Amino acid sequence: MALGYLGAACNRSPSQVALLGVPFDGTSSFRAGSRFGPQAIRQGSYSLETYSPFLSRDLNDLDITDWGDLEVPPGNALRMVEMVEEEVSTIIATDTKPAVMGGEHTVTLGVVKALFKKYPNMRVLQLDAHTDMRDDYLGEKISHATVIKRIMDFLPADRIFRLGIRAGMKEELELAGVELPIDSCLRDITGVMNSIPADVPLYVTCDLDVFDPSLIPGTGNPEPMGITYREFIQLIRHLSNHQIIGFDVVELAPELDSSGVSSIVAASVFRELLLSLSVLER
Ligand code: MN
Ligand code: MN
Repeated sequence: MALGYLGAACNRSPSQVALLGVPFDGTSSFRAGSRFGPQAIRQGSYSLETYSPFLSRDLNDLDITDWGDLEVPPGNALRMVEMVEEEVSTIIATDTKPAVMGGEHTVTLGVVKALFKKYPNMRVLQLDAHTDMRDDYLGEKISHATVIKRIMDFLPADRIFRLGIRAGMKEELELAGVELPIDSCLRDITGVMNSIPADVPLYVTCDLDVFDPSLIPGTGNPEPMGITYREFIQLIRHLSNHQIIGFDVVELAPELDSSGVSSIVAASVFRELLLSLSVLER
């Protein structure tokens, strides 16, 4: 029998939250391996409690199903994005919220495309070390390095908010509104969170390289000076003031961290985001 994420039932019946794995790393430019992310997040979750002492909420109070992994073609990013869009459209056809496990960051494009059809006024919060705003990467329009630019093809630029950005070309960083030089990638956490309207649907995409590599070395493009777990919890508490319609956790490449700690931290990040979805009484 397949084992789902901690506290989730392995079926596709209507629920409050549906988990979906997308084991795709076909455009990874440096260190691949995020196709093994979904299974590693599930496995890492078995070392956790269902209760989060940081949020004082419990997964057992949520009705969660784990839809398993999408069988995506390894070398075809366009087809993968279409398949994710289709599957997420099915999930949100009922009032179920999607919680997606990557896979590389490109999977986010399919999720946001599906959500945008249902929530045309949605906002996106990107947690990432990189802007992912290149127009193409090595000639490819659909890639982990272009994913936010592709989202900006249909979602106005002022609806995308970012935290943790600290790497990129000068032009990219300026376009993303990053204050240079950077002394702390999170110096404006309250400012950014307060600038997101509280009454509109908000999607959170978490590229795990937003964290410091000392916490999550198991990722494709680690960058020093990332956020700590304490800062993440600080950030996650702000989410309670928003209408969170779904999220993803991407770019975990578990085999790059032989200690296995990256996967457990990723599973823990996933728990806190699950508990931040706008389905629980607050
Ligand atoms: Mn990144
Ligand atoms: Mn990214």
